[in-house]
Amino acid sequence: MTGAWTLRAPCSGQDGFAPNQDAWRTAQDLKRLCQARLGYCKPCPFRAECIATIKPSQAKFDGIAGGRLWCDGEVIDALDDVSDEELAEPKLRPSCGTEAGAKSHTRNDERICPSCRQAAREMDARRQAEKPKRQEQLQLDFAGTT
Ligand code: SF4
Ligand SMILES: [Zn+2]
Repeated sequence: MTGAWTLRAPCSGQDGFAPNQDAWRTAQDLKRLCQARLGYCKPCPFRAECIATIKPSQAKFDGIAGGRLWCDGEVIDALDDVSDEELAEPKLRPSCGTEAGAKSHTRNDERICPSCRQAAREMDARRQAEKPKRQEQLQLDFAGTT
């Protein structure tokens, strides 16, 4: 990382925040390697700058940035006080107001805009409501095969 703030960050001069790909294979390995370093981010006032610089989702980053542990650009662990405020302002796109719009925000390391958040919530609720129906159908299908 570059920038004057990086010299004042708690992780300045430390290594192991983005382990070499040869050193791990699974997300669990990465967690074992990096998890202890998440503590450095706890008092760090530069989490937003860190995420904006690394752009972990876009870069498919593996390692620690902004109080989160990322694997292939997805958060697999995080400090308990991380906040969406640490992500960039959402850009509004034609896909806003849909679940795909919400995914675009995430892929671009942005906060999810209110209409995309609402759309994602509704899709989630619909999936939850459909789950029992699907399970019932599977049981019926299974019963029909015996
Ligand atoms: S958020 Fe964590 S990784 Fe990023 S600069 Fe701060 S201490 Fe370093
Ligand atoms: Zn949106």
